Amino acid sequence: MLYGDYHTHTPYSHGTGTVMENAMVAKEKGLKELAITDHGFNHMSFNIKRKELKSLRRDIDEAEKATGLKIYLGVEANIISRSGKVDVKPKDFEYLEILVVGYHKAVWSDVKSMFDYILKNMLTKNPSKKLIEINTNSYIQALRKYPIDIISHLNHRCKVDVVEVAKVASEVGCYIELNGKRKHFSREQVKDMVEKTDVMFVLDSDAHSKERVGDVDMWLKLSEEYGIPKERIANLNGGIILRDKKAFYES
Ligand SMILES: [Zn+2]
Ligand SMILES: [Zn+2]
Repeated sequence: MLYGDYHTHTPYSHGTGTVMENAMVAKEKGLKELAITDHGFNHMSFNIKRKELKSLRRDIDEAEKATGLKIYLGVEANIISRSGKVDVKPKDFEYLEILVVGYHKAVWSDVKSMFDYILKNMLTKNPSKKLIEINTNSYIQALRKYPIDIISHLNHRCKVDVVEVAKVASEVGCYIELNGKRKHFSREQVKDMVEKTDVMFVLDSDAHSKERVGDVDMWLKLSEEYGIPKERIANLNGGIILRDKKAFYES
């Protein structure tokens, strides 16, 4: 039984279900927790704006009251450089409770990173060993610099050495997502992460419509097929533990 869905979108980015609608569906499906994680501030077209965080907070308060669910206010931020820069600032954590981070192609960065990171990954079909190394390092640095709770769709469009990223994720207390819309790991990669690291996984829908909230069927099946023990999937066993944001907020 799925306890929570920690990656859903609303019209604050390009989802169609409102906060209230996502929450209602989550309740109907028996979830206890939900996160609203619209696309982060540097996304070119679907970004939530910083000035909207206040009204998102109000929407979440209302939806929590109506459903009794715990709803986390979050963002699906973007990794935007080789050095692991993420498009969040300390003061954003006045509002942000959960930080999901992923690679997305249509994001603003500095000119150099636009070319040597964003576009490079976007245009490369078969990434070289060197590029995989660069990408791996970017995630590792991001995990050490920012209080990231979940890495969304790791290895999708930005290939990494999944074991190396999983080792650091486990060390800092970050979950690796099994994304409801994408088959972003091979059987082999899953096996390696399970056997060579202690990383914990989380099943998320990445819903962009209310109907898909809590829909984690694809990776529920694949995780059994690929041999991820149930104990290693956090939200099949209860809620997730969020990383401390205070030190980053005050930095
Ligand atoms: Zn995403
Ligand atoms: Zn998403």
